[in-house]
Amino acid sequence: MITQMSLAVQRPLWQAELARAVSSPAELLALLDLPVSLLPGAARKDFPLRVPRGYVARMKPGNPHDALLRQVLPVDEEGLSAEGFTPDALGEHQAMPVAGLLHKYHGRALLVTTGACAVHCRYCFRRHFPYAEANPAPEQWRAALDYLAQDASISEMILSGGDPLSLPDTRLASLAERLAAVPHLDTLRIHTRLPIVLPERVDDALLNWLTGTRLKPVMVVHANHAQELDGAVRSALGKLVRAGVTLFNQSVLLRGVNDSVEALAALSRGLFDAGVTPYYLHLLDRVRGTAHFEVGETRARELIAGVRARLPGYLVPRLVREIAGAPAKQPLAQSGAL
Ligand code: SF4
Repeated sequence: MITQMSLAVQRPLWQAELARAVSSPAELLALLDLPVSLLPGAARKDFPLRVPRGYVARMKPGNPHDALLRQVLPVDEEGLSAEGFTPDALGEHQAMPVAGLLHKYHGRALLVTTGACAVHCRYCFRRHFPYAEANPAPEQWRAALDYLAQDASISEMILSGGDPLSLPDTRLASLAERLAAVPHLDTLRIHTRLPIVLPERVDDALLNWLTGTRLKPVMVVHANHAQELDGAVRSALGKLVRAGVTLFNQSVLLRGVNDSVEALAALSRGLFDAGVTPYYLHLLDRVRGTAHFEVGETRARELIAGVRARLPGYLVPRLVREIAGAPAKQPLAQSGAL
């Protein structure tokens, strides 16, 4: 007989950590010895606070300007409207041939697997995404798979979200198998922030399905600051590298988080030490409620030039902007010489 206790024992550690993530702004401030006066006046019910405790442990107590805290603490500025900031800055709602499948770029398609994330990043470009309509439940993945099977120009499948790794491994393993059965697919790419915010997620069950099909596994993680890369994260990334997963990072240029040459250079070095290639540095997508994070294009170019002056070319991420309806990301600066 399966008892409550045996169910608890069977639950992977990462799910237990996810279940006890901090969801109260008052508790987060108390954990960091910060005053309650920093609490937002209005609760953000549509996009509430969510942050794993291990990520909180990487924040500096007593510092209201901590680069990690700023990424997750709701603030009153989110309620301000700003010109040019809209709910769907990338026009994604129009780019879906079937529910949850985005086919914007030649050769690859992206499946929105879930609306769930381990962390709620306040600058998120999908914070207003209509997950309820656009997110296919696993039993509806068949429509997306049918679409893929009929378009032989698609060789790479990208799993995104939300965060695809917030789904259980049994479901992901089943999806990976079904994708591997599509003959023209050769690469499975996962876009995820989980190895950064909840490194416990990189366990044997994940590595088994991710490296267990004929598809070449690629993972694009999402770190914005070197302080995010503690020992547990480096260990998780090392496991992925040793299992044969190619790792890239994409970050977002965020005011008050990583908008200095020092911060960006330290991030690139930290990523490289952990086996991750710094790939993209995105300008903020102009999504409603995120204007206080924006760094202007001129300043962004200056910053990337400063990073290029300090680091070898392979550590300089491509500075890019996404444009609604454009066939590819728009590069804003060259990566520079080796
Ligand atoms: S993990 Fe990614 S999708 Fe989820 S809230 Fe953060 S930026 Fe958005």
